[in-house]
Amino acid sequence: VLPSPSLAPALLAAPGPQQRRAMAKAITLLESTRRDHRAQADALLTELLPHTGKSFRLGISGVPGVGKSTFIEALGLFLIARGHRVAVLAVDPSSSVSGGSILGDKTRMERLSMDERAYIRPSPSSGTLGGVAEKTREAMLVCEAAGFDVVIVETVGVGQSETAVAGMTDMYVLLQLPNAGDDLQAIKKGVMELADLVVINKADLDWAAATRAQAQIGSSLRIYGFHGHSHTDHATSGKTWHPQVMQLSALKPEQGDGLERFWAQVSAYRELQQTQGHWLAKRQQQAQSWMWERIHAGLRQQFAASPAVSAQLPQITEDVLQGRLAPSTAARQLLNFFSGDEK
Ligand code: GDP
Repeated sequence: VLPSPSLAPALLAAPGPQQRRAMAKAITLLESTRRDHRAQADALLTELLPHTGKSFRLGISGVPGVGKSTFIEALGLFLIARGHRVAVLAVDPSSSVSGGSILGDKTRMERLSMDERAYIRPSPSSGTLGGVAEKTREAMLVCEAAGFDVVIVETVGVGQSETAVAGMTDMYVLLQLPNAGDDLQAIKKGVMELADLVVINKADLDWAAATRAQAQIGSSLRIYGFHGHSHTDHATSGKTWHPQVMQLSALKPEQGDGLERFWAQVSAYRELQQTQGHWLAKRQQQAQSWMWERIHAGLRQQFAASPAVSAQLPQITEDVLQGRLAPSTAARQLLNFFSGDEK
């Protein structure tokens, strides 16, 4: 049993080995599925909450091999050299299937992980995307309470995990390869619409090709990048953020000042969002959507576990299949059985 009362003071205390141990313990507690642990975890979160929210939350996604870990390590080292404390978390729902996460590979980010100003935690490997995202969100709060002022959340560029990461971060960055065609792929998947910044990595392989890709993606962003996102808010006067595209080399970051230019873009974004009042609004909206996402997930789970529903489900399903009950009527009947169960 991990008693939470002793964890919060250690987390909120000065950086050091004791704080690191408390972070690991806290995150393990949050990831636990045991009922009594969950109660402790919720108490801990409530205690930590006033000390959270002060970090910059940066989402980074891209297909495997695009250079995420190379880039995050270079960026992390760049930031800690400038006095920041950097946490790296991951959302990788496939890790529970494959048994070993690519994002959790211990050999990744070796130099960064050895630095005490950095904290790296692989993706939780429990079940659904929603479950994995929940643990990562909560781990982010632990890192913030421990004073990490940059939290990077990494995800692979497949499935719905990008949407989940964009929904828990202040700025969402998409890494791309410098060959044409990849960008069209991303646009099709709708990922481009989420991106606040597209970074063409591996530019050192061919700077001219990267420049062409930059122009191409830039025009795609102008066409696709303005839907349903915070930077579409034309109601406010003044400037809004338009998604940007840049190129760099994560492997040779000193070539072309890639990290300086990247961090300048991040700072410009942050400043604009804060002065326009979008910052808090976005976080509030994220918190509220997340609450509802979890309510819906919880209800689905309870519905599936309801004895009355389980008892009636085979017959009612059969009635729907045989055309004896309208699907909507069947749904209402099952919901009635479910709420009967709840009383
Ligand atoms: P991830 O799967 O997205 O995390 O990609 P990795 O960071 O593991 O990188 C995949 C491969 O690409 C590795 O062999 C890296 O060394 C290489 N790589 C990453 N960034 C660059 C870059 O900017 N330039 C070049 N030439 N290679 C890179």
